[in-house]
Amino acid sequence: MSYLPTDPTRFAERAIEGFAASHPRHVQRIDGGVMRRAPMAPGQVGVVVGGGSGHYPAFAGLVGPGMAAAAVCGNIFASPSAGQVLRVGSTVEQGGGLLLAFGNYAGDVLHFSLGAERLRRQGIDVRIVTVTDDIASAGADQPELRRGIAGGLAVYKVAGAAAEAGLSLDAVEHLARKANARTRTLGVAFSGCTLPGASAPLFTVPRGCMAIGMGLHGEPGLSEGPLCDAEGLATLLVDRLLAERPQEVAAEEQRVVVLLNGLGGFKYEELFVLFQAISERLKQAGIAITDCECGELVTSLDMAGVSLSLFWLDEELEPFWSAPADSPAYRRVSIVPPLADAPGEAQATAVRTQAIPEPAAPSGSGDLTEPQRAVLARFAAVEAELSQRVEELGALDAVAGDGDHGLGMLRGSQGANAAVRSALARGCSTGEALMAAGEAWSDHGGGTSGALWGGGLLAAGQALAQAPGQDDPQQVLTAVRAALQAVRDLGQAAVGDKTLLDALEPFQTRLQGDLQAGLGLEEALRNAANAALAGAQATAELLPKLGRARPHGERSLGHPDPGAMSLAYCLIAAIQATTSSDALQAER
Ligand code: ADP
Ligand code: MG
Repeated sequence: MSYLPTDPTRFAERAIEGFAASHPRHVQRIDGGVMRRAPMAPGQVGVVVGGGSGHYPAFAGLVGPGMAAAAVCGNIFASPSAGQVLRVGSTVEQGGGLLLAFGNYAGDVLHFSLGAERLRRQGIDVRIVTVTDDIASAGADQPELRRGIAGGLAVYKVAGAAAEAGLSLDAVEHLARKANARTRTLGVAFSGCTLPGASAPLFTVPRGCMAIGMGLHGEPGLSEGPLCDAEGLATLLVDRLLAERPQEVAAEEQRVVVLLNGLGGFKYEELFVLFQAISERLKQAGIAITDCECGELVTSLDMAGVSLSLFWLDEELEPFWSAPADSPAYRRVSIVPPLADAPGEAQATAVRTQAIPEPAAPSGSGDLTEPQRAVLARFAAVEAELSQRVEELGALDAVAGDGDHGLGMLRGSQGANAAVRSALARGCSTGEALMAAGEAWSDHGGGTSGALWGGGLLAAGQALAQAPGQDDPQQVLTAVRAALQAVRDLGQAAVGDKTLLDALEPFQTRLQGDLQAGLGLEEALRNAANAALAGAQATAELLPKLGRARPHGERSLGHPDPGAMSLAYCLIAAIQATTSSDALQAER
């Protein structure tokens, strides 16, 4: 996973040094790991967490007031040694004893237990709580064999808050055990992780599959399943975890803390998509979310994977879960009210909108005229055309731009198509419908082209609405001219700059010339659309002078401008959509 050439034998050590150097307010480097910078109260229990490196923010990122007093930091995916545990433990001990909390892995158990023995020999009271939240790693009848994964956050948080509150070692241990007993986790992975300096991942997941129940150390999943969408994955994770509802959770307890954890190679945006599906699934199951964390809590280097933990918080644990904490990677302040007092989850996700009044519908008959039906057909044809061209246009945009043109155009046309339908159904004129299409295209399409298409359609619609009494071809020409002018004004491009103007301008010129020469509207439109396509294709020889493509101009030589091509495709599709000779006639 390292991009820079590195010495793998020193990687973990250098990372921890750099971590301490970059978080000087929070932590202090000590022999064996890091400890909190803020002084502890005399007699305060020291919560010491730890394990291998490669799991950031676990474990060093969780050190600070209200969280762990110290972290013992091993090598990548390797337990720290008993000697490290001894050195870290004796450094942070303040007379209140130590709670060692870590994931249930053989190496960690051995070293932490040996370290605990040596600390006890120094007269220190030491307790051990192993985290065993991973339901995939052993059956419910053998909880002591289960591994510890992302649910550890619940244990460390509760224990850290209890210690900060000055509770005794007995009490801190009791609360930590209880948090562990009430937490269940299941994870999946889509690809393996690669050790620093290594050239191949520790394991791979076949295409179209996901590994279910993978570990945190590059252990492959315990089974494989077909890849599914967010709803499918939410169902799988939630249902399996609910089936594993801990014995100690009473039947009437229907509230959980949700921890949705990214394992290192799973982006936040995708986590949020999944979170939404998970909250829906929990709602269907009648379970309320009292609190949640969604982000990277315990990672596995660059593994593309995700885990869901359900932490069945009760009244005894709740104050410790929601107490303030201030560590490099996990902070909790008391400024924001807890979820129970804040607007509920339903309110948080309900989209707040500022109502913008729809233009008053004229007293139309409700029946669509022939030209209105033609406009509907043309917008539908544009959307259909773009849905076929998403990849092609995206690839063209990727040559020198950001590759989003195909999707942006599709989204814009979907919005515009829906807006036209709704406007015409409300009895609006064709001009008003085009104005609505412009608003919607800009809203849904985004990007430069979204703004230009939106502005062009809006101007065309306004021109139509203000041009009653013209004959049909003249109205179309008026609308096209208005759109061209709007695109020029908005984009400040000139012909030859390699933009969509290089298709729109020839379209307008040819249309005007053919209509003046006495050709019928439909034929003139067809010729004009062909001129637009020729203009778009000719942009392959041009260097972009504007837009996102400009800095990489030479790369785009030999490739036509995506915006010009998409415009030509849309014009051709729209004009082919209906053969009616008065198809674009405007409604007055
Ligand atoms: P973005 O560049 O914001 O990602 P898109 O990829 O959707 O937007 O659209 C790119 C297209 O926008 C270009 O291919 C070009 O046709 C058009 N474009 C960019 N800048 C201008 C401009 N100033 N005037 C006219 N068209 C432009
Ligand atoms: Mg783009």
